[in-house]
Amino acid sequence: MDVRRRPIKPTTTTGELLKPSKPSDTVPPSVYLTNGLFFTIFFSVMYFLLHRWREKIRNSVPLHVLTLSDLAAVLSLIASVVYLVGFFGIEFLQSIFRPSPDSWEIENDNINITMDEPMIKPCAHAFMDNNNNNKPSTIDEDDQEIVNLVVTGSLPSYALESKLGDCKRAAAIRREALERITGKSLSGLPLEGFDYDSILGQCCEMPVGYVQIPVGIAGPLLLNGAEFSVPMATTEGCLVASTNRGCKAIYVSGGATCVLLKDGMTRAPVVRFGTVKRAAELKHFLEDPLNFDTLAVVFNKSSRFGRLQSVKCAIAGKNLYVRFCCSTGDAMGMNMVSKGVQNVLDFLHSDFPDMDVMGISGNYCSDKKPAAINWIEGRGKSVVCEAVIKEEVVQKVLKTTVAALVELNMLKNLTGSAMAGALGGFNAHASNIVSAVYLATGQDPAQNVESSHCITMMEAVNDGRDLHISVTMPSIEVGTVGGGTQLASQSACLNLLSVKGASKDEPGSNARVLATIVAGSVLAGELSLMSAISAGQLVKSHMKYNRSTRDMSKLT
Ligand code: ADP
Repeated sequence: MDVRRRPIKPTTTTGELLKPSKPSDTVPPSVYLTNGLFFTIFFSVMYFLLHRWREKIRNSVPLHVLTLSDLAAVLSLIASVVYLVGFFGIEFLQSIFRPSPDSWEIENDNINITMDEPMIKPCAHAFMDNNNNNKPSTIDEDDQEIVNLVVTGSLPSYALESKLGDCKRAAAIRREALERITGKSLSGLPLEGFDYDSILGQCCEMPVGYVQIPVGIAGPLLLNGAEFSVPMATTEGCLVASTNRGCKAIYVSGGATCVLLKDGMTRAPVVRFGTVKRAAELKHFLEDPLNFDTLAVVFNKSSRFGRLQSVKCAIAGKNLYVRFCCSTGDAMGMNMVSKGVQNVLDFLHSDFPDMDVMGISGNYCSDKKPAAINWIEGRGKSVVCEAVIKEEVVQKVLKTTVAALVELNMLKNLTGSAMAGALGGFNAHASNIVSAVYLATGQDPAQNVESSHCITMMEAVNDGRDLHISVTMPSIEVGTVGGGTQLASQSACLNLLSVKGASKDEPGSNARVLATIVAGSVLAGELSLMSAISAGQLVKSHMKYNRSTRDMSKLT
């Protein structure tokens, strides 16, 4: 049975339902006067013509014999009828053909929205204004019936988008249902001001709103001769200010240089055989250089951007882990590499019919988990970034000395991390910068785990006067197409860095530049935080930037 889209009753900015819009209640006063005039003409002329009609019958005068005044009266009658039908007739006709509320039907498990019904833009949620999201939202009363179905479990929340064909309306209904089910208000979580169509099937399921994260700008970051204003989405006070200070130190010292060593995304399925011998046979087959071209042809069919670079195997008993590595253009590449791997597995089945594919990912990839293989072999973009910071800059901008920085780096980032058994964590706070840039530019924030692998080196150069600093980051996983990069806010941040979307000149170059910007920003962050620690400023500056003077007890 159909649930037809009912016309949504418009709401005021405070959420009150407006009365149904009729021509007569939306017109200015001058139109009332005109209406009155035409009504008067209509009735007077009718009276006049009826009177004349009676006279003609009494005097046996044919009805079609018209005097000048008769003619004027008939014309006035026609004019007034045309006007009045035009003004009130449409509404009358609409009221006849518009279905009554009772004819809208909802059948619990089978809601169908008739898409050829005029889809009236929903304005179900009304807010005081776009920026004030603390005001309660109001769902249109027509949608309340659908909310009820979700609350009672008759309509699955996840099906709202497909059933309604309107992502914004689905989010509003789901949100209302959630508030009712949990008894918790979501008034602080904005609903308005977001394009819910843009995330459908791509970024987030079952949305009820979106979280706001402020974006600050650090820079200019002078990197490989170009200047970048780096967007950082964070709620950690000090972080942007500190990175900005690092950028300044780099800038006045002549800039940083970044080199990309490797660019390849990995995926490693796990396959099982009946014997160790068979697993070893596949390992030899896959790692034989003579077979690489065949494998590459099969793998590369997945995409015009995915190009197989290498295959590396590891055996655990009868189980074989095959780490495929490929270039992925401007995409971060997880989907692309997975498709290529599936092609190869399908192909291998003819020669290895006893191969049992246990999982397309066997964790030897390794995605979103701390793993030595990424630290050693690299994953995504492997990048090294360096700068020489002049002695006077270390003193004036960073308020410390070269010797103090070099010593602290050795004790903290190298020895301290070794003592802690760190895996890729030989740095002060690479993940702070990586996460903030990732959130701002639509990267997968969970890949912060391996993308933040970084070893920070510091050395006194130029007879001990200046500081050489470098960050080596073997697994920066970034893309400028796909995933969250196409969302409006994230796309704007990529645009700010001139790396939005697919590179037209050279596929992959936008993503590679973004990786160098991430590393350059980490360099700035390392420089500034290490300086703050060596100068004993860390706690002081955090107390200044992380401690609001607002009286928190007054916040509810
Ligand atoms: P990922 O592989 O990072 O998860 P997607 O699955 O969205 O991302 O893949 C990226 C999509 O964008 C693919 O369909 C690919 O064909 C397309 N694409 C267009 N231009 C490029 C480009 N320059 N580099 C990579 N992919 C691109």
